[in-house]
Amino acid sequence: MIQNDIEKIMITEEQIQERIRELGAELTEEYKELFPLAVGVLKGAMPFMTDLMKRFDSYVELDFMDVTSYGNATVSSGEVKIVKDLNTSVEGRDVIIIEDIIDSGLTLSYLVDLFKYRKAKSIRIVTLLDKPSGRKVNLEADIVGFEVPDGFVVGYGLDYAEKYRNLPYIGILKREVYSF
Ligand code: 5GP
Ligand code: MG
Ligand code: MG
Repeated sequence: MIQNDIEKIMITEEQIQERIRELGAELTEEYKELFPLAVGVLKGAMPFMTDLMKRFDSYVELDFMDVTSYGNATVSSGEVKIVKDLNTSVEGRDVIIIEDIIDSGLTLSYLVDLFKYRKAKSIRIVTLLDKPSGRKVNLEADIVGFEVPDGFVVGYGLDYAEKYRNLPYIGILKREVYSF
């Protein structure tokens, strides 16, 4: 049972789903006259995007991007590498970037610059979690699900060594899970 590796549940499944209903309604209202392109950042944003899009009651195109940052696991260099690019052109499109969490902000500031360069008409960032204490660049999300304090969280898309993405909630790992 992977549940046994969790020290504490920080945001419950019910809290996540309730917030997603609110965010979905907000996006529906904002984009009802448009046909936006929702870009999910793999792999972390997958569960959030899946649930959020089910609450978005208007036309929307879905696409995905996979990026990794160079450098080691704990210190991000700020250089981002595209592992999988979009299938769609963003030129003239209203782009909604969907992320799991914003920490340093480096990944998203790279994506925002890239989509501006590619002539997107508008760019909005929707993130499930925001960790403002980790910020290294000046970047703000337009829509935030929950603000979280400094510390490492897993679940609902967020991994530790590629595990725990499939948890239905956001939690904190037990200490012993990190030490092997
Ligand atoms: P940023 O570029 O904003 O520093 O971080 C972006 C990525 O780092 C996130 O999309 C996520 O994959 C990872 N990340 C940042 N904070 C956490 C965290 O608390 N837990 C997990 N599992 N991943 C995180
Ligand atoms: Mg991510
Ligand atoms: Mg990760």
